[in-house]
Amino acid sequence: MNYNEIISSIYTKIKSEDNIGDLANYIPELAKVNPEKFGVHLSILKGEKIGMGDYQEKFSIQSIAKVFSLCMAFEMLGEKIWDRMGVEPSGTAFNSLVQLEKEKGIPRNPFINAGALVICDILISHLKNPMGEFLDFVRFISGNPQLNYSPTIANSEKASGYLNNALCYFIKSYGNIHNNPTDVLDFYFHLCSLEMSCEELSGAFMFLANEGMKSENNQVILSKSQTKRINALMQTCGLYDESGEFAFKIGLPGKSGVGGGIIAIYPKQYSIAVWSPFLNTKGNSHRAIKFLEQFTTRTQLSIF
Ligand code: GLU
Repeated sequence: MNYNEIISSIYTKIKSEDNIGDLANYIPELAKVNPEKFGVHLSILKGEKIGMGDYQEKFSIQSIAKVFSLCMAFEMLGEKIWDRMGVEPSGTAFNSLVQLEKEKGIPRNPFINAGALVICDILISHLKNPMGEFLDFVRFISGNPQLNYSPTIANSEKASGYLNNALCYFIKSYGNIHNNPTDVLDFYFHLCSLEMSCEELSGAFMFLANEGMKSENNQVILSKSQTKRINALMQTCGLYDESGEFAFKIGLPGKSGVGGGIIAIYPKQYSIAVWSPFLNTKGNSHRAIKFLEQFTTRTQLSIF
């Protein structure tokens, strides 16, 4: 398979087409990002690495970081985390409040904001220094000690995150947030502000394509069964209310963020990250979805 040729021809074609959508304007710092940025990086398990465009430029990974926080909580506490949240797609927007009242403060899954806030709460309850230890975990799985939060983006979201405040206090009223909501929200805004390039992201996610082990040395991060569960959740809930369409068109477990990044995994084969900041109405990158759809069509590889 000539991945280089496939990536380069899809990239060039999409770049020549209209770039449509909106930036994540509700976070003032993200409204300043250049919407023409476009990067792709493919890491093949024990094979080639191919980057195109702005693949080495760091961006705000936003909700993609929720995969890391889920892995950390799952690795530490195992199956009991599912007492505090479900594993079903929500069928609503990523920041929706509507199900929480009916379902008594139990979020549908760990990737909608409500579920990610509960994961932050779990980590705060079990770690001495959650912000530092979470960063250490991401640095460890990515083998990259340089990774960091963006305090500017975290503060920008903190100053405007009314909906996330509402979600956190609402869940707290049902007893499913155990710590001080201010601390939970601060940790949440920081983990969303993590900055990584497509190259760094596709490298960091390789363990999910490698049955839970680091690809360089087979060091175990998650068990095979835990890895299967994370990939299944990415498949069913990773793109919010567009997860069904993503499975239908792309056919790979994936996770998006409102910074415009999407990561997708082909188990035992590769991990691919695409970044383009303009978002569609579901909050997912317009060009990244387009790219991945054409990529899995051209390669004729999908888990289905
Ligand atoms: N920090 C963003 C928020 O809470 C994350 C959403 C996303 O990337 O989908 O609204």
